[in-house]
Amino acid sequence: MAKQTLKVVIKIGSSSLEDEQGYINYNIINRMMKTFSLLQKKDIDLVLVTSGAIALGMNELHLSSKPKDMSLKQACAALGQAKLMEVYNEFAAKYDLLLGQILLSHDDFEKRNRMLYLQNTLKAMFENNIIPVINENDALAVEEIKVGDNDTLASLICPMINADLLILFSDIDGLYTKNPKIYDDATLIKVVNKIDDSIFEEASSSTSKVGTGGMETKINAALIATSCGSDMIICNAKEISSLEDIIFKKNIGTLFTKQNSVIPSKEHWLIFKTKGKGSIVVDEGVEEELKKDTKISILPKGILSVQGEFLKDDIICIISKEGELLAKGKSSMSSFEINFVKGLPSSKIKEIMPYPIRKEAVHASNLVVIKEKIYGRIIK
Ligand code: GLU
Repeated sequence: MAKQTLKVVIKIGSSSLEDEQGYINYNIINRMMKTFSLLQKKDIDLVLVTSGAIALGMNELHLSSKPKDMSLKQACAALGQAKLMEVYNEFAAKYDLLLGQILLSHDDFEKRNRMLYLQNTLKAMFENNIIPVINENDALAVEEIKVGDNDTLASLICPMINADLLILFSDIDGLYTKNPKIYDDATLIKVVNKIDDSIFEEASSSTSKVGTGGMETKINAALIATSCGSDMIICNAKEISSLEDIIFKKNIGTLFTKQNSVIPSKEHWLIFKTKGKGSIVVDEGVEEELKKDTKISILPKGILSVQGEFLKDDIICIISKEGELLAKGKSSMSSFEINFVKGLPSSKIKEIMPYPIRKEAVHASNLVVIKEKIYGRIIK
C-alpha cells in the first residue's frame, strides 16, 4: 500500500510575526523555515496560513492603529503582503524551500467548482514540493464578504487536503480554564475531546493586540477542523522550533481531537463554507422531522415565513419559529416565489402559479440537517 503522507496546516498570527516594537520578527520566520525544511525531508506536506499583511503594511506606513478607512486598510494589505512574502522568501531560500503564494476570498470556498480548482492547485504544489503560503486577499476583500480571520480560513483548508492536523500558532499557550492574564489559578487545558458550550465559556476574551482572531475564532476553527477529521492544536508561536514534537507527540498546547463521526465533504461544504443568503422559518411538524435527523424535502406547506432575499439555487438556512438553525440547503425557489406559495398545499400551488415551479422549496438531496446545535454559533 502506498505510504500516506502526513498533511499539516499551520497558521501563524500577526501578533507572533511582530516583535515588541511592531517590526517584523525575522527570528521567528527563520526558525519556521528551518523547521519546515526538516519536516519536508520527513515527507510531511505543509500548508502555511499566514496573517500579518495589514500589520506589516501599517508598519511600513508608520500607522499606529488599524485604519478605519476600508481602502487605506486594503492599501496596507497590498503593501504588507508583498513585504511578507519578500521576508518569507529570503529565509526559505536559505533552507532550499519553495514557497507559492495563494490569496483567497470567501467566494473561493462558497463556489464549489472554485474550491475544486483550489484543491487541484494545492495537490500540484505538494507534488512539486512547493509550500502553499495562504492569506485572505485583503487588498480586495470588503467586510461583508470576508472570511475575516485566518483561524477560520486555515480550518476551511483542512477538508480540501484531508489534513491530519491543524496547528494555530498564537501569542498564547493554549486554551485555559479562565483568562490567565487575570486569574492566577487558570490552568491550561491539555485535551478537548468534545466542543460544547462550556468550552466557549472557557474561551475567555484573550484577544491579542494586533491579530484579528481571539480565542472564540480558534474554537470555531476547532469545530470546523475536527468535524472533517483533522486534529487541531493551539499553541504558542515561541514553540515553532518544536514543530516536530507538536506534530508527532501532540504534547504542547491544547489538543482538540478529531470527532468520531466525520461529516462527508459535500455536507461539510454546505454547513461551513456557504453563507446562507436568507432563511425560511418552518412549522413544528417540519421542525420535529428535522430534529429526528430525517432528510426530508421542505414543502411550501410547512413554511411559515421567509427572511431576506435570495434566488433559486442560493444556499439558505432552515430555522424554527424560535430561530434555531435546523438545516441548510440549496433553495429550489426564489424568496419571492416562496413568499407567494408558503403555507399552501402542492395542489393549490399548481392552480395559482402562473408558471410551473418545483413542488419543494428545498429538495432532500440538497439539504443537510444540522445535528450539532453548537454549529449554529458559527453559521451565518
Ligand atoms: N488577513 C489578515 C492579515 O494578513 C489577518 C487576519 C487575521 O489576523 O486573522 O493582516
